[in-house]
Amino acid sequence: MNDAKAQTIRLADYRPPAFLVDDVHLTFRLHPKHTTVTSRIHFRPNPEVTERRFELHGECLSLKSARIDGRDSKPHFAGGILTADVPDAPFIWEAEVEIDPSSNTALEGLYISNGIYCTQCEAEGFRRITFYPDRPDVMARFTVRIESDDLVTRSNGEPVPDSPVLPVLLSNGNPVASGPGWAEWHDPWPKPSYLFALVAGDLVAHTGTYRTSEGRDVTLNIWVRPGDEDRCAYALDALKRSMDWDERVYGRAYDLDVFNLVAVDDFNAGAMENKGLNIFNSKYVLASPETATDRDYESIEGIVAHEYFHNWTGNRITCRDWFQLCLKEGLTVFRDQQFSGDMRSHAVKRIDDVLMLRARQFREDAGPLAHPVRPAEFQEINNFYTATVYEKGAEVIRMLKTLVGNDAYSKALDLYFDRHDGEAATIEDWLKVFEDTTGRDLTQFKRWYTQAGTPRVSVTDTFNHGTYTLDFEQHTRHTPGQFEKSPQVIPIAVGLIGPNGDEVVPTTVLELTDERQSFSFDGLGSRPIPSLLRNFSAPVILERQTSKEERLHLLAHDTDPFNRWEAGRQLGKEELVSRIANGSAPSMAWLDSLNRLANDESLDPAFRALALSLPSEDDMAQTLHDNGVTPDPGTIHDAREGMLADIGKALRPTLTSLYDNMDVPGTYTPDATSAGRRSLRLKALNLLVCADEAQMELAVDLFATTDNMTESLGALSILLGKGEGEKQAATFYEKWRNDSNVLDKWFAIQIANATPEKAVARAEALTRHPDFHWKTPNRFRAVIGALAGNAAGFHDPSGAGYRLVADWLIRLDPVNPQTAARMATTFETWTRYDGDRQGKVRDVLNAIRSTRGLSPDMNEMVSRMLDAQPCESRRENQ
Ligand code: ZN
Repeated sequence: MNDAKAQTIRLADYRPPAFLVDDVHLTFRLHPKHTTVTSRIHFRPNPEVTERRFELHGECLSLKSARIDGRDSKPHFAGGILTADVPDAPFIWEAEVEIDPSSNTALEGLYISNGIYCTQCEAEGFRRITFYPDRPDVMARFTVRIESDDLVTRSNGEPVPDSPVLPVLLSNGNPVASGPGWAEWHDPWPKPSYLFALVAGDLVAHTGTYRTSEGRDVTLNIWVRPGDEDRCAYALDALKRSMDWDERVYGRAYDLDVFNLVAVDDFNAGAMENKGLNIFNSKYVLASPETATDRDYESIEGIVAHEYFHNWTGNRITCRDWFQLCLKEGLTVFRDQQFSGDMRSHAVKRIDDVLMLRARQFREDAGPLAHPVRPAEFQEINNFYTATVYEKGAEVIRMLKTLVGNDAYSKALDLYFDRHDGEAATIEDWLKVFEDTTGRDLTQFKRWYTQAGTPRVSVTDTFNHGTYTLDFEQHTRHTPGQFEKSPQVIPIAVGLIGPNGDEVVPTTVLELTDERQSFSFDGLGSRPIPSLLRNFSAPVILERQTSKEERLHLLAHDTDPFNRWEAGRQLGKEELVSRIANGSAPSMAWLDSLNRLANDESLDPAFRALALSLPSEDDMAQTLHDNGVTPDPGTIHDAREGMLADIGKALRPTLTSLYDNMDVPGTYTPDATSAGRRSLRLKALNLLVCADEAQMELAVDLFATTDNMTESLGALSILLGKGEGEKQAATFYEKWRNDSNVLDKWFAIQIANATPEKAVARAEALTRHPDFHWKTPNRFRAVIGALAGNAAGFHDPSGAGYRLVADWLIRLDPVNPQTAARMATTFETWTRYDGDRQGKVRDVLNAIRSTRGLSPDMNEMVSRMLDAQPCESRRENQ
């Protein structure tokens, strides 16, 4: 199964398909071990191609028969490619293959999750269902017939139960016909094979309807296992709001009679946008106040929207090839960010998104796995569903919108949908609609798609006779395989604040295009304080020598909420850096400012909770490394904990009153306002407990009395973080042992919040727990992923954390290479650390790489991490 040879695929080698497909007819005769798939495909030569070879992809298929225009064919098959002699004219290909869903643990193609047949075809999983040109530039209309396994076993003469439960049988598009044990579907919209889906099983629907702006009535079904139907209301509501939003904001209406969404427990990713049949990881569908946290609700809203928005950005307009992945993902992430901002708070959403971008994408850009938003080559495309493609991809679109303005953005999007509907498009097509709309030349802007690495922008300023000048310099460090970097177009949103706190120049967007460039503001009465990169107008690292006074001034007076938060974050980071270096206590000025923010009732509680948060340990490790200091994760952890305690002591009266007053009375609702209050309240509680163990009683009480998962999990995490909470964890387990989504949380928080000395041992113990179903990706991530996320525990100087994670990756790899390879990114920061730790990581990476039968997925990841030149050795004169 894993014998496919590692092969590098290059964007430069793209060739259009030799044959196009008009219609596909598929018949599935379901059987857990012997499902047969019959295909009937109408091919025709692509007139744009002169030299034609007929090639179909296929993996893990057993071919029973093949016919071309009704005559038996003996195709040739090697290395995952089937070839056959075909006419130089339209023809019909028919094949029957057998597949075994029951043994499919990779969760690619057709598999069974808790008795439910389901599929995952993106990126290249359709080739595990039947022979097909499994590439996104081949778009076809699909008609699908599904026969249930009861029907199939009966016709095979195998015994069937007296009264079999007739399963729900779903595929893409609209239902055409059905009877007992069979159903037929037709999808009128041509689509690539990666959007194909099939679901069959004992499911129930939580149903709603939606009338589109075009007057079409759409049936909405959220399909779940019996018993879960009362946890679907929020997802359905989020879906309706997404449909409405896309009509209002992008003018895009839904285009089928039915929209089906299915929740499954075994899933490699968050969710999948299959046409008319979205399949979701159940954790991003099911929610009730008792089982889901405020964060879960927010994720459900965002992911339901994301997958729904793909219907236009991804499905109606798809990608020509997988190098263009950001065409659909960057744009769809940007759209879901806009949507969540509209539903909640724009400022808080932007801060959350930037926190995520820095934690995951900047980290990726700074290490051996750095790659452009549009990579030029890959071995395994599944390894490129990354923070760079998704999140930086969204930032690039945000910048484009900032540069051209809102009106031009809307016009360009209208043109994009008009011009490319029904096509498989490229980044060149995307940029061209902006060029045609605005007359701008986007040649330089395109570097955002082709150049890897986070640009660093350094700024100095001068003030002379009423003229204030900002001098910028941009520079991007080299990344693996890309030594030369050229200047990029960087929109820098700037405002100027006067010494008395007034805004003397409102937000202006400066366009930095050169390596060095200056911008001046005239007629100022006194030297202003600059508020730079407002709302994080570009995904860059801003470097500026500035004083604590300036940061405090912005923290108090900036009109841009993002930069207000940013000023506080930078102050906190500087305080932490000096505490790590020399144990220094926090400054009074900073503590005062925190106290003022925490008390400021004009500010959104969610914003205050963010302002009271310190940078993560991983963020501090990257910061030290950037400053030329080798980070020690244990020291960082202790300094950060000490800082939390000092804040808790200094702000105690404020925190106590926040804890008392931020309570949300009445029945739980997941709205942003209530969630913000709970978040601030838990933040206050954590600081109080960090400062004084006696305050632990508050967390014990909260855990015992709360009726919602947010506070239950929040209180338990706080206790676990102090080495307590064992009794509460046991209670929690007894209560939720039969709920897999909640049990995942139970596994994860015990490891995520474990003290550094205990983290590895606790993770190790939990891998021996009877509920550690490690083949389920959610459970694997809850345990192994949680250890990888506990920085000080994972980087324990003994190397035990590295070994435990590596051992489990080696074990998971043959079972589920996608999920294993994804988690290998936990080692991407290894060159930051001391020689001892580096040696230990190198050992485990080599052990993984030399494992027999290693998947191409894992081989690519580990090789990139081992073979990249460490940044230090070639770092330019920083
Ligand atoms: Zn997506």
